[in-house]
Amino acid sequence: MEKNLKQLTNRIHYLPHDPATDRPILSAICGSHQTLLVDAGNSDAHVKQFLYELAQCQITNDHCVVLTHWHWDHSFGAKQMNRLTIAHEKTKMHLEKMVDFDWSDEALDSRVEKGVENQFCADMIKKEFGTDRNISITLPNITFKEQFEIDLGGVRCVVKHVGGDHSDDSSLIFVEEEKVLFLGDCLYPSIYTQPPQYKIVNVRHLIESIEMFDAEIYVLSHEPPLSKADFMGYSMLLKLICDLTEKHQGNYSDLVNELTTQLNRPLSQLEEEIVYCFMNGLSVK
Ligand SMILES: [Zn+2]
Repeated sequence: MEKNLKQLTNRIHYLPHDPATDRPILSAICGSHQTLLVDAGNSDAHVKQFLYELAQCQITNDHCVVLTHWHWDHSFGAKQMNRLTIAHEKTKMHLEKMVDFDWSDEALDSRVEKGVENQFCADMIKKEFGTDRNISITLPNITFKEQFEIDLGGVRCVVKHVGGDHSDDSSLIFVEEEKVLFLGDCLYPSIYTQPPQYKIVNVRHLIESIEMFDAEIYVLSHEPPLSKADFMGYSMLLKLICDLTEKHQGNYSDLVNELTTQLNRPLSQLEEEIVYCFMNGLSVK
Protein backbone atom coordinates (compact mmCIF):
# COMPACT_ATOMS: atom_id res chain seq x y z
CA MET A 1 0.00 0.00 0.00
CA GLU A 2 1.42 3.41 -0.88
CA LYS A 3 1.86 5.93 1.89
CA ASN A 4 -0.62 8.79 1.86
CA LEU A 5 -0.42 9.94 5.46
CA LYS A 6 0.91 13.48 5.70
CA GLN A 7 2.42 15.43 8.56
CA LEU A 8 0.62 18.73 9.23
CA THR A 9 2.68 19.86 12.25
CA ASN A 10 5.07 18.21 14.67
CA ARG A 11 2.26 16.36 16.40
CA ILE A 12 -0.54 16.17 13.86
CA HIS A 13 -0.77 13.70 10.96
CA TYR A 14 -3.59 13.38 8.44
CA LEU A 15 -4.86 11.30 5.57
CA PRO A 16 -5.88 13.76 2.80
CA HIS A 17 -9.44 13.95 1.48
CA ASP A 18 -10.36 11.94 -1.61
CA PRO A 19 -13.08 13.41 -3.84
CA ALA A 20 -13.53 10.10 -5.76
CA THR A 21 -15.93 8.85 -3.06
CA ASP A 22 -16.09 12.06 -1.01
CA ARG A 23 -13.74 10.78 1.71
CA PRO A 24 -12.96 13.56 4.22
CA ILE A 25 -9.60 14.23 5.86
CA LEU A 26 -8.93 11.93 8.83
CA SER A 27 -6.44 13.18 11.41
CA ALA A 28 -4.42 12.03 14.39
CA ILE A 29 -3.42 14.49 17.14
CA CYS A 30 -0.53 12.97 19.05
CA GLY A 31 0.13 13.86 22.67
CA SER A 32 2.79 12.17 24.77
CA HIS A 33 0.17 9.95 26.47
CA GLN A 34 -2.76 9.71 24.06
CA THR A 35 -3.57 10.17 20.41
CA LEU A 36 -6.95 11.65 19.48
CA LEU A 37 -8.39 10.76 16.07
CA VAL A 38 -10.61 13.23 14.23
CA ASP A 39 -13.53 11.69 12.32
CA ALA A 40 -14.35 8.04 11.77
CA GLY A 41 -14.20 7.83 7.98
CA ASN A 42 -16.80 6.93 5.36
CA SER A 43 -16.38 3.13 5.30
CA ASP A 44 -14.49 0.11 6.63
CA ALA A 45 -12.03 0.44 3.73
CA HIS A 46 -11.34 4.10 4.51
CA VAL A 47 -10.69 3.35 8.19
CA LYS A 48 -8.53 0.30 7.42
CA GLN A 49 -6.30 2.45 5.23
CA PHE A 50 -6.02 5.16 7.91
CA LEU A 51 -5.25 2.76 10.77
CA TYR A 52 -2.75 0.84 8.62
CA GLU A 53 -0.92 4.04 7.79
CA LEU A 54 -0.91 5.20 11.42
CA ALA A 55 0.62 1.86 12.42
CA GLN A 56 3.25 2.17 9.68
CA CYS A 57 4.24 5.54 11.17
CA GLN A 58 4.37 4.08 14.71
CA ILE A 59 1.47 6.26 15.83
CA THR A 60 -0.03 4.47 18.83
CA ASN A 61 -2.27 5.05 21.87
CA ASP A 62 -5.16 6.06 19.63
CA HIS A 63 -8.06 4.95 21.81
CA CYS A 64 -10.48 7.80 21.09
CA VAL A 65 -12.11 9.38 18.06
CA VAL A 66 -14.08 12.61 17.99
CA LEU A 67 -16.71 13.23 15.30
CA THR A 68 -17.02 16.69 13.71
CA HIS A 69 -20.67 15.91 12.71
CA TRP A 70 -22.99 13.01 11.85
CA HIS A 71 -22.79 12.93 8.02
CA TRP A 72 -22.12 9.48 6.55
CA ASP A 73 -18.64 10.29 5.25
CA HIS A 74 -17.47 11.23 8.78
CA SER A 75 -19.21 8.46 10.73
CA PHE A 76 -19.79 5.23 8.76
CA GLY A 77 -16.32 3.92 9.61
CA ALA A 78 -16.97 4.11 13.38
CA LYS A 79 -17.66 0.39 13.77
CA GLN A 80 -14.46 -0.60 11.97
CA MET A 81 -12.54 2.02 13.91
CA ASN A 82 -13.71 0.43 17.16
CA ARG A 83 -12.47 3.26 19.37
CA LEU A 84 -14.23 5.17 22.14
CA THR A 85 -16.31 7.65 20.11
CA ILE A 86 -16.97 11.19 21.34
CA ALA A 87 -19.54 13.44 19.69
CA HIS A 88 -21.98 16.28 20.32
CA GLU A 89 -25.35 15.11 21.66
CA LYS A 90 -27.05 16.19 18.42
CA THR A 91 -24.58 14.09 16.41
CA LYS A 92 -25.72 11.05 18.38
CA MET A 93 -29.37 12.05 17.92
CA HIS A 94 -28.96 12.24 14.13
CA LEU A 95 -27.11 8.91 14.00
CA GLU A 96 -29.82 7.25 16.10
CA LYS A 97 -32.35 8.06 13.38
CA MET A 98 -30.29 6.05 10.87
CA VAL A 99 -29.70 2.89 12.92
CA ASP A 100 -32.53 0.94 11.25
CA PHE A 101 -32.06 2.30 7.73
CA ASP A 102 -31.80 -0.07 4.78
CA TRP A 103 -28.88 0.81 2.48
CA SER A 104 -29.97 -0.98 -0.70
CA ASP A 105 -30.16 1.06 -3.93
CA GLU A 106 -33.97 0.99 -3.73
CA ALA A 107 -34.04 2.24 -0.14
CA LEU A 108 -31.46 4.96 -0.86
CA ASP A 109 -33.34 6.11 -3.98
CA SER A 110 -36.62 6.25 -2.13
CA ARG A 111 -35.07 8.33 0.66
CA VAL A 112 -33.65 10.71 -1.98
CA GLU A 113 -37.15 11.02 -3.48
CA LYS A 114 -38.62 11.83 -0.06
CA GLY A 115 -35.91 14.42 0.57
CA VAL A 116 -34.49 12.48 3.55
CA GLU A 117 -31.28 11.68 1.68
CA ASN A 118 -29.23 13.91 -0.58
CA GLN A 119 -28.66 12.73 -4.18
CA PHE A 120 -24.91 13.39 -4.09
CA CYS A 121 -24.48 11.46 -0.82
CA ALA A 122 -26.57 8.54 -2.14
CA ASP A 123 -24.40 8.37 -5.28
CA MET A 124 -21.20 8.49 -3.23
CA ILE A 125 -22.42 5.81 -0.80
CA LYS A 126 -23.15 3.51 -3.77
CA LYS A 127 -19.71 4.23 -5.22
CA GLU A 128 -17.79 3.80 -1.95
CA PHE A 129 -19.52 0.58 -0.91
CA GLY A 130 -20.27 -1.05 -4.28
CA THR A 131 -22.72 -3.93 -4.05
CA ASP A 132 -21.33 -5.28 -0.78
CA ARG A 133 -23.07 -2.65 1.32
CA ASN A 134 -22.28 -3.76 4.80
CA ILE A 135 -23.19 -0.58 6.66
CA SER A 136 -23.97 -0.49 10.36
CA ILE A 137 -24.32 2.71 12.32
CA THR A 138 -22.35 2.82 15.55
CA LEU A 139 -23.48 5.37 18.12
CA PRO A 140 -21.04 7.61 20.03
CA ASN A 141 -20.07 6.43 23.54
CA ILE A 142 -19.56 9.87 25.05
CA THR A 143 -21.57 13.00 24.24
CA PHE A 144 -21.13 16.64 25.21
CA LYS A 145 -23.40 19.70 25.13
CA GLU A 146 -21.25 22.76 24.52
CA GLN A 147 -17.59 21.99 24.74
CA PHE A 148 -15.00 19.86 26.46
CA GLU A 149 -11.25 19.82 26.78
CA ILE A 150 -8.91 16.88 26.48
CA ASP A 151 -5.25 16.80 27.52
CA LEU A 152 -3.32 14.29 25.42
CA GLY A 153 -0.04 14.94 27.24
CA GLY A 154 1.61 18.21 26.25
CA VAL A 155 -1.13 18.78 23.68
CA ARG A 156 -4.49 20.19 24.69
CA CYS A 157 -7.59 20.12 22.50
CA VAL A 158 -10.80 22.07 22.85
CA VAL A 159 -13.82 20.47 21.20
CA LYS A 160 -16.63 22.99 20.78
CA HIS A 161 -20.09 22.78 19.29
CA VAL A 162 -20.64 25.57 16.72
CA GLY A 163 -23.53 24.37 14.54
CA GLY A 164 -24.10 26.34 11.32
CA ASP A 165 -25.96 25.81 8.06
CA HIS A 166 -24.11 22.67 6.97
CA SER A 167 -25.25 20.66 9.99
CA ASP A 168 -26.68 21.80 13.32
CA ASP A 169 -24.38 19.43 15.25
CA SER A 170 -21.07 20.66 13.76
CA SER A 171 -18.21 20.84 16.25
CA LEU A 172 -14.68 22.13 15.83
CA ILE A 173 -11.47 20.93 17.44
CA PHE A 174 -8.77 23.43 18.39
CA VAL A 175 -5.30 22.17 19.16
CA GLU A 176 -3.75 24.86 21.29
CA GLU A 177 -0.05 23.97 21.17
CA GLU A 178 -0.11 23.38 17.40
CA LYS A 179 -2.43 26.30 16.60
CA VAL A 180 -4.49 24.05 14.35
CA LEU A 181 -8.26 24.36 14.04
CA PHE A 182 -10.26 21.42 12.63
CA LEU A 183 -13.49 22.76 11.18
CA GLY A 184 -15.04 19.62 9.71
CA ASP A 185 -17.63 20.75 7.17
CA CYS A 186 -19.11 23.54 9.31
CA LEU A 187 -18.34 26.34 6.83
CA TYR A 188 -19.99 24.61 3.90
CA PRO A 189 -23.65 25.28 3.00
CA SER A 190 -26.52 23.02 4.03
CA ILE A 191 -26.82 19.90 1.89
CA TYR A 192 -29.96 18.35 3.33
CA THR A 193 -32.09 21.26 2.13
CA GLN A 194 -33.15 21.56 -1.47
CA PRO A 195 -31.59 23.79 -2.83
CA PRO A 196 -28.41 24.26 -0.71
CA GLN A 197 -28.36 27.43 1.39
CA TYR A 198 -26.46 29.84 3.61
CA LYS A 199 -28.30 32.08 6.05
CA ILE A 200 -26.70 35.44 6.84
CA VAL A 201 -27.27 35.19 10.59
CA ASN A 202 -25.85 31.64 10.79
CA VAL A 203 -22.73 32.42 8.76
CA ARG A 204 -21.96 35.54 10.80
CA HIS A 205 -22.42 33.67 14.05
CA LEU A 206 -20.25 30.78 12.88
CA ILE A 207 -17.38 33.03 11.74
CA GLU A 208 -17.51 34.82 15.11
CA SER A 209 -17.18 31.48 16.91
CA ILE A 210 -14.26 30.46 14.69
CA GLU A 211 -12.46 33.79 15.15
CA MET A 212 -12.30 33.18 18.91
CA PHE A 213 -9.50 30.69 18.25
CA ASP A 214 -6.00 31.86 17.47
CA ALA A 215 -5.06 29.34 14.77
CA GLU A 216 -2.36 29.30 12.10
CA ILE A 217 -3.70 26.30 10.14
CA TYR A 218 -7.36 25.64 9.32
CA VAL A 219 -8.47 22.17 8.34
CA LEU A 220 -11.71 21.88 6.37
CA SER A 221 -12.57 18.27 5.70
CA HIS A 222 -12.87 18.26 1.91
CA GLU A 223 -9.91 20.36 0.77
CA PRO A 224 -6.20 20.71 1.57
CA PRO A 225 -5.44 22.48 4.90
CA LEU A 226 -5.47 26.30 4.68
CA SER A 227 -2.89 28.79 5.94
CA LYS A 228 -4.08 31.68 8.10
CA ALA A 229 -3.90 34.04 5.10
CA ASP A 230 -5.97 31.69 2.90
CA PHE A 231 -8.52 31.21 5.63
CA MET A 232 -8.80 34.95 6.28
CA GLY A 233 -9.45 35.46 2.55
CA TYR A 234 -12.19 32.83 2.69
CA SER A 235 -13.90 34.25 5.78
CA MET A 236 -13.61 37.86 4.50
CA LEU A 237 -15.35 36.77 1.30
CA LEU A 238 -18.17 35.09 3.25
CA LYS A 239 -18.57 38.20 5.43
CA LEU A 240 -18.63 40.46 2.37
CA ILE A 241 -21.29 38.31 0.72
CA CYS A 242 -23.31 38.38 3.98
CA ASP A 243 -23.23 42.21 3.90
CA LEU A 244 -24.10 42.44 0.20
CA THR A 245 -26.89 39.86 0.45
CA GLU A 246 -28.36 41.88 3.31
CA LYS A 247 -28.02 45.14 1.35
CA HIS A 248 -29.47 43.92 -1.96
CA GLN A 249 -31.89 41.34 -0.53
CA GLY A 250 -33.36 39.34 -3.41
CA ASN A 251 -31.74 41.39 -6.19
CA TYR A 252 -29.24 38.91 -7.62
CA SER A 253 -27.75 41.10 -10.38
CA ASP A 254 -27.19 44.11 -8.09
CA LEU A 255 -25.47 41.81 -5.61
CA VAL A 256 -23.20 40.25 -8.26
CA ASN A 257 -22.40 43.67 -9.76
CA GLU A 258 -21.32 45.15 -6.45
CA LEU A 259 -19.36 42.04 -5.47
CA THR A 260 -17.54 42.04 -8.84
CA THR A 261 -16.73 45.75 -8.41
CA GLN A 262 -15.42 45.24 -4.87
CA LEU A 263 -13.29 42.24 -5.86
CA ASN A 264 -12.26 43.98 -9.09
CA ARG A 265 -12.55 40.76 -11.12
CA PRO A 266 -15.21 38.36 -12.37
CA LEU A 267 -16.54 35.85 -9.82
CA SER A 268 -15.06 32.35 -9.69
CA GLN A 269 -17.37 29.37 -9.94
CA LEU A 270 -17.09 28.83 -6.17
CA GLU A 271 -18.05 32.45 -5.50
CA GLU A 272 -21.06 32.15 -7.80
CA GLU A 273 -22.14 29.04 -5.91
CA ILE A 274 -21.74 30.82 -2.57
CA VAL A 275 -23.90 33.72 -3.79
CA TYR A 276 -26.50 31.21 -5.05
CA CYS A 277 -26.62 29.58 -1.58
CA PHE A 278 -27.08 32.97 0.11
CA MET A 279 -29.94 33.81 -2.29
CA ASN A 280 -31.56 30.49 -1.38
CA GLY A 281 -31.12 31.22 2.32
CA LEU A 282 -32.99 34.53 1.94
CA SER A 283 -36.21 32.95 0.80
CA VAL A 284 -36.27 30.50 3.71
CA LYS A 285 -37.57 31.99 6.91
ZN1 LIG B 1 -20.88 17.10 6.08
